[in-house]
Amino acid sequence: MKQNHYPLTTDDIKRNFFRNLANVQGKFPALASTFDYYMALSYTVRDMLMARWVGTATEYVEKKSRTVAYLSAEFLMGPHLASNLLNLGMTELVTQAMAELGLKLDDLLGEEPEPGLGNGGLGRLAACFLDSMATMNIPSVGYGIRYEFGIFEQVIFDGWQVEKTDKWLFRGNPWEIVRPEWAVEIKLGGHTERYVAENGETRVNWIPGWSVKGVPYDTPILGYRNNAANTLRLWQAVAPESFNFERFNQGDYYGAVEEKVSSENLTKILYPNDGPLQGKQLRLEQQYFFVSCSLQDMLRIMKTQRIRLEHFHEKFAVQLNDTHPAIAIAELMRLLVDEHDMSWDTAWNVTRRTFAYTNHTLLPEALECWPVELMESLLPRLMEIIYEINSRFLEQVRAQCLGDTAKVIRMSMIDENGARMVRMAHLACAGSHAINGVAALHTELLKRDVLKDFYSLWPEKFSNKTNGVTPRRWMALCNPRLSKVISEAIGDTWVRNLGKLQDLQRFSDDAVFLNRWDDAKRLNKHDFALNLYKRTGVSVDPESIFDVQAKRIHEYKRQHLNILYVIALYRKLKTDPHFDTHPRTFIFAGKAAPGYHLAKLIIKLINEVGRVVNRDPATKDRLKVVFLPNFNVTNGQQIYAATEVSEQISTAGKEASGTGNMKFAMNGALTIGTLDGANIEIREEVGEENFFLFGMTAEEVRLTYERGYAPNDAYQQDAILKDAIDLIRNGFFSHGDTGLFRDLTDNLIYSDPYLVLADFNAYRECQDSIDSVYRDRMRWNKMSVLNTARSGKFSSDRTIAEYCREIWKVESVPIDVPEVDPFRLV
Ligand SMILES: *Cc1c(COP(=O)(O)O)cnc(C)c1O
Repeated sequence: MKQNHYPLTTDDIKRNFFRNLANVQGKFPALASTFDYYMALSYTVRDMLMARWVGTATEYVEKKSRTVAYLSAEFLMGPHLASNLLNLGMTELVTQAMAELGLKLDDLLGEEPEPGLGNGGLGRLAACFLDSMATMNIPSVGYGIRYEFGIFEQVIFDGWQVEKTDKWLFRGNPWEIVRPEWAVEIKLGGHTERYVAENGETRVNWIPGWSVKGVPYDTPILGYRNNAANTLRLWQAVAPESFNFERFNQGDYYGAVEEKVSSENLTKILYPNDGPLQGKQLRLEQQYFFVSCSLQDMLRIMKTQRIRLEHFHEKFAVQLNDTHPAIAIAELMRLLVDEHDMSWDTAWNVTRRTFAYTNHTLLPEALECWPVELMESLLPRLMEIIYEINSRFLEQVRAQCLGDTAKVIRMSMIDENGARMVRMAHLACAGSHAINGVAALHTELLKRDVLKDFYSLWPEKFSNKTNGVTPRRWMALCNPRLSKVISEAIGDTWVRNLGKLQDLQRFSDDAVFLNRWDDAKRLNKHDFALNLYKRTGVSVDPESIFDVQAKRIHEYKRQHLNILYVIALYRKLKTDPHFDTHPRTFIFAGKAAPGYHLAKLIIKLINEVGRVVNRDPATKDRLKVVFLPNFNVTNGQQIYAATEVSEQISTAGKEASGTGNMKFAMNGALTIGTLDGANIEIREEVGEENFFLFGMTAEEVRLTYERGYAPNDAYQQDAILKDAIDLIRNGFFSHGDTGLFRDLTDNLIYSDPYLVLADFNAYRECQDSIDSVYRDRMRWNKMSVLNTARSGKFSSDRTIAEYCREIWKVESVPIDVPEVDPFRLV
């Protein structure tokens, strides 16, 4: 790979920085805010990457490259400026240039609002995949939605989560370019009509009730120092015309404008997930909207490249990130059959060879279904197409299973039990040539359980693609101290070839190296402690063990198991004067879906336990509990780098993969975890002696449910557990209010669907064992080094290589150094 050399000086940067400050921000230094400086620098960096972006697009068009279209309702990108600087290799030069102006680069970076266009793992995975595809020179486009308001901002008020709207676009977004010339029209509502075409065939016309326009906004996605710049293309809904002129002429000015406002609502807000799934019409509109926009965009590209539509699947490999974009299968059929006169059989052949589907969840309540009634009224033509796909599909099922009608009913795309529903996962399976899970266990459980009928019909479609995360953002960018220690020991090729980290193993007994390793972690902890204090007012001992659970708040992730242990530890510290333990700081971070009552109550409990414990003079030097508000990519970057104990304690069989677990491990945290999702593979890689394992296996969990689980028995029999729960029930953490946490404690004692009580004792013993290991610091550091050294598998580069080879059949297209550097022209 050719390396870039930038003959740039800090003077070039400064000149262009001031040019952008004046010409784009319209400010001069005396008036400029730190945000203005952030904007000026962002435009300066954008100027430097434009030649790569244009050059990459040119190369792909000239080569007519096979392209990955990654369809995802969420892209949780995180801030762009720092990662663009890293990928361009310009961090040092720009730091220097800003310093010469008396500015700190970090202050400017701190001004960038995070584009929070995702809920958590699924959206972040999409972002890591875009990073890896750009770095591996894979022609690809990420297609999604330009939500005006991303995931809500979480603030904590009186211990409760309060949601604030996320106005990330309010002050402008320097990273996107709008392309109104490529806007497309989307039909909604109305009815269908049949007519006889010239050739005598019956065709269908969809007469919409209304329509909206989709306008694409493009954001460049740089590869790591390889001249490639791919595109993230997000669609925004606008009214088809600024005014409804007919109504306007009739004098109904307000009616006309209202219509415009209502179509533009379509892309206003990202739906928070993890809550009770609701069949919200607006959500279905969003899904269909971005899918239809994206497919129409692909057809436009086919046309400009003069490729016949029969070859669609040769030009595009379309990946469905969960079932959110699964309606694409019916929509591509509609576009090919209705709008481009293709025969059904040819269109179906093209469609099936185009799509591949990634499943992301085993929780039955999270499998998407849409009411047939809603589908019929909002997308009447798509419902007809789904019926047709289903009837042909069920014919195939009947032939294969020889009249097993129960199986036919199970596999139908329409759930006929009660109010009729469209099962999006079934549509996704039937319309895709490949189906994958996101960790080895998850894929096995899919085959055995959730999708077992589909597996028996098409075993060859199924494969596993264990998730990964990008080492650019999640190591090089977020942990420069550790990165430096690593690169000084083994060189810097690990950033694009994470398997290289293996070379660190030979330093795992080197005392000098281990001390450097320890220093990096210690300084990260100091920085984080300072930030914790600023954000929460809680001061923590940077020398204490940083034990962190950062992820969405959900019962299956079991933050309540963690806090129960904290309470038990607090009791032991209070009651046993001889009990000696290394000081520990338990840090929690994560958002709860606004409608998820128990999750919000868990946040309140964590905060109330913190309030009591942190000020208790008997324990406050040895135990702290902090809830860091508003977990997002920006906060995550600091958290993952400063953690020593990574909490991955979901009920076995519930977490599809997890990716936070990987980010922690590659930054040298030791995991305490169950045999769930990718934890299993992390443990296999880092070695069982370097992983704190506890709890039931997925099989034991299954048997426990099967036999009938009585959490009350565990509660009655385990004195330590009972003591902890009773402390909550007695109002010890709620100023004597015995009702506040009742829903939570009752849920645990009488139902406990995620087996918190069943795993408590094993978790407690495992947590206790961490303390004794930590006392031998050099042993701990060695374990930490080995976690990093053996985490190469969890680079999303490895995951993407597998998708490319086994599903997409795409190859990399190297991009030359840009011929013209427009930076020099200005
Ligand atoms: C990685 C990440 C997640 C996923 O975390 P899990 O522990 O895998 O649930 C969620 N949110 C953000 C901001 C992340 O960076």
